[in-house]
Amino acid sequence: MRTPFIAGNWKMNLTIGKARELVRVLDKEIGAVKDVEVLVAPPLTALAAVISELHASRIKVAAQNCHWEAAGAFTGEVSPELIRDLGCSHVIIGHSERRQYFGETDETVNKKIHASLRAGLQVIACIGETLAEREAGKTTVIVETQLRGALKGLSAGHMEYVTVAYEPVWAIGTGKNATPDQAQEVHGHLRTVLRDLYGSAVADTVRIQYGGSVKPSNIKELMDKPDIDGALVGGASLEATSFIGIVKCRG
Ligand code: PEP
Repeated sequence: MRTPFIAGNWKMNLTIGKARELVRVLDKEIGAVKDVEVLVAPPLTALAAVISELHASRIKVAAQNCHWEAAGAFTGEVSPELIRDLGCSHVIIGHSERRQYFGETDETVNKKIHASLRAGLQVIACIGETLAEREAGKTTVIVETQLRGALKGLSAGHMEYVTVAYEPVWAIGTGKNATPDQAQEVHGHLRTVLRDLYGSAVADTVRIQYGGSVKPSNIKELMDKPDIDGALVGGASLEATSFIGIVKCRG
């Protein structure tokens, strides 16, 4: 019912030349895949080159962040309108690294999501608890608060353009992934929150990606869980073989 969605977040990595090399291989190997939606999120500097390489591909391209204003005196920032103009279809909002290092809050995440949808972008909205929050038994409260905060004011109609990425902060770039059962427990709860906000018909269509040390060796058992609809992949998306392995996890 929900098409699996695998996204690669390259973070602050890869020159334009390396980015071109990587997407040429990805396009050749998985550029025509139909049963999985595939996306890459290069750094801003490589977006134009990657978009041009993928002009005839099914692989979609996202920016990793944006500002919430459409235009104006915001030196160094990039608006959703400019990202759309470049040719991106998606933007990642609220990644934990943005929350941790750049002061992103549930409020700014919400403003950015509204602005992105207004500009015609689709959104991957990231949420996730820290290790301290998990150990204090607060995971459910934290992720629910983040989800409700991110989606504040969005209509059921907007949810067609929103994917949620659950990324436990303690699992990002650490090699420690949540077990499929741990991830499913949170994903199941997030689906319940979506049901409360938008009703079952909408909640059943929203994709919820898992993120945190996803690799070819652990993706399948995660994807086998009923509420895990794909992955947001960091480190393993920088290397063609591992990203292709993740996309092709079901053979
Ligand atoms: C991420 O950056 O969203 C991520 C999940 O990173 P990694 O796969 O490297 O843990």
